Amino acid sequence: MYKMMTPGPTMTAPSVLQARSREFVNPDVDPDFCEEYHRVCTELAGLLDTRNEVFILGGEGILSLEAACASLTEPGDRVLVIDNGIFGRGFADFVKIYGGDPVLYTVDYHRPVEAEALREFLEGDHDFKYATVVHCDTPSGVLNDIGLLCPMLKEYGILTVVDSVAAMFGEEVHVDEWKIDIICGGSQKALSAPPGLAFVAVSPEAVYAMRNRKTPVASFYCSLLTFLDYYREKWFPYTMPVSDIYGLAEAVRLVREDTDRIRRHHRIAAAVRDTVKEAGLSLYLDNGDAATVTVIRVPEGIRDSDIIQTMKEEHGILISGSFGVLAGRVIRLGHMGNNANIEDVAQMLTALSKTLKQLGFSCQCDMGKEFIKRLP
Ligand SMILES: *Cc1c(COP(=O)(O)O)cnc(C)c1O
Repeated sequence: MYKMMTPGPTMTAPSVLQARSREFVNPDVDPDFCEEYHRVCTELAGLLDTRNEVFILGGEGILSLEAACASLTEPGDRVLVIDNGIFGRGFADFVKIYGGDPVLYTVDYHRPVEAEALREFLEGDHDFKYATVVHCDTPSGVLNDIGLLCPMLKEYGILTVVDSVAAMFGEEVHVDEWKIDIICGGSQKALSAPPGLAFVAVSPEAVYAMRNRKTPVASFYCSLLTFLDYYREKWFPYTMPVSDIYGLAEAVRLVREDTDRIRRHHRIAAAVRDTVKEAGLSLYLDNGDAATVTVIRVPEGIRDSDIIQTMKEEHGILISGSFGVLAGRVIRLGHMGNNANIEDVAQMLTALSKTLKQLGFSCQCDMGKEFIKRLP
């Protein structure tokens, strides 16, 4: 088996795998399960610094994005889709599927959204039911300052939906202070559980908007309305994936214990970026790299697939390419969750130096050693 240094899924702790193999109860019938689910939701809310209610959904991270759009969008609703990356733009599809009218605010993909430029746009047009924005848009690794953007959108009376799937637990998140109405997360990124679960934290304002719809939600599985009363009624809209939730509970426990987590992500990410530049490679972004992933331009004359294959087959380390408009142009090094540790990242960088050399690009340093030297 290889080390999975991708920007999700990430490497999973043995205790999380063990928790998933525990004998399980009937989640529809046994009220103890409802208590356990509720406890994990409450712990997630604590980590996200919110008093809003959290719901864990049975499905991958993408489900949380679609569920937010399905639950808020009514036919004809104008929705502001903030687009400086592939996931950012992708929200427009969900809005359309549920009958909404997405209005794209498209800016350069090489840097974060600028708050003041967005404000100028909003001065001209702010008639939106809600806005969508991605915290870390993983294909490019850009980190948007949702702590600035969301409170500003709320000043204009716009609800906020944030995709923080690839940022939360590796970057600071303060849902209440930042006025985020629905934040979306997943199990397989910095939380380092296997893929399979999504979760959302939903504000009272978003609940109000959902409960006061004029038309029903055009989905059952994607409707958050079906979850709102689960705890009072001890009822779930479908059988919860109980083993996945046992694993998630253990992953949440580990994250709660790891108090140095955010600082470590930042320390490692800064050293990786400095190292990559020192080696003579170039980062995809002008600025605003997230602490969870580093995105590097593929050197001239080399194929991304050759880098990835050599890394996997000769060095036992899986890294990733990208997709959409970035396909073939960049490689991505994941350092989120359990992967944000010095040993694995140093090993990945040493292997990358060797791989590139083999393929015809000589780095100006041994990146593994340089990384250790540059750790702040
Ligand atoms: C991983 C990811 C998701 C969820 O995608 P899945 O394919 O369900 O894992 C959503 N948004 C971003 C920014 C992501 O990186």
